[in-house]
Amino acid sequence: MKRFRAFYDHGVVIEYGEKRFIIDPLKRPSKPFNAVLITHGHRDHVNPNAVRNVAPLIMSRETARVLNVRDGVNPRYIEVTPGRELDVDDAIIEVHNAGHIIGSLSYVLDFGDLRVGVTGDFNVEPSVLLRGADALDVDVLIMETTYGDPNYVFPSRDFIYNELVGIVEEGVKDGIVLLMGQPLGRGQELTVLLRNYPIYVEPRIKVINNAVGIKYGRVLSGSPEPGSIIIMGMYGDPISIVKSLRSRYGAVRAVVLSGVYAKASRAAGLRAFGVEALPLSSHSDFPRLLDFALNSNAKLIYTVYGNAARFAKYLRRAGVRGMVLPTAAQSTLDPFLKA
Ligand SMILES: [Zn+2]
Repeated sequence: MKRFRAFYDHGVVIEYGEKRFIIDPLKRPSKPFNAVLITHGHRDHVNPNAVRNVAPLIMSRETARVLNVRDGVNPRYIEVTPGRELDVDDAIIEVHNAGHIIGSLSYVLDFGDLRVGVTGDFNVEPSVLLRGADALDVDVLIMETTYGDPNYVFPSRDFIYNELVGIVEEGVKDGIVLLMGQPLGRGQELTVLLRNYPIYVEPRIKVINNAVGIKYGRVLSGSPEPGSIIIMGMYGDPISIVKSLRSRYGAVRAVVLSGVYAKASRAAGLRAFGVEALPLSSHSDFPRLLDFALNSNAKLIYTVYGNAARFAKYLRRAGVRGMVLPTAAQSTLDPFLKA
């Protein structure tokens, strides 16, 4: 086995022998590399300025379309879909479905005698729009841990959908329903889930929806009629947004959707002001993260994003070698090779 190193340097860097792969760089790579891989279109994973004139650049068509309509960039790239395998300088890149948002991917770099998985953001639970994330079978796993804390346990997606549709049914009887969540993620999921209702979507969501072929919903101009649903991004304080809408339109039922509301205290704070909160997330919750990690058979698991240190501790408790993905300065060659 050759020299292996993984670390975070404005993106996830994987080195094996003379090879270097960079995943989700937020800065233009300064050293030579074999390929840059993008997992999905959220801005904390892809920076339009970092991927200009970078080659080879690998991503899904949906991610490229989001970059195009949202950020106005059109980089040359190699389009991949889940199930595809790509040979880059004698390393095989396996492409997997990540189930996080439309076009999201996980990757496995197979160096022959070492398989390294990078999840990107992922969600193992299927949604109305996406399949659940593929399981990865690897030697080393680099996984996101946004909700890697036992406080985050989500009900099943079907349960949350039922709750949400119940609120919507009630709300459209005598007023307007306002749903707020991430424009890239919740925006598409809610549009598809509620396609049979009269829905309005804010322009930023409409642009993304159009780019990925979701045609439901109109852009709001003027006042929404009673009985309609407005889907918008979450910008600023939801309570003040809802207050101003209520003063304009009268009865407004409002629901905020994010995994953070799995914490009862966060949800209760909003409910006190008449705003509902449901833990509908693009990420996996703590038990599902742990399950995913243990099923990977990885001998070494690096955690990154969110509750990385906490989740690594739970991995070690479960008997797995888990640690936070080091920075370039902290990284050593051999935590894996010594194992
Ligand atoms: Zn994301």
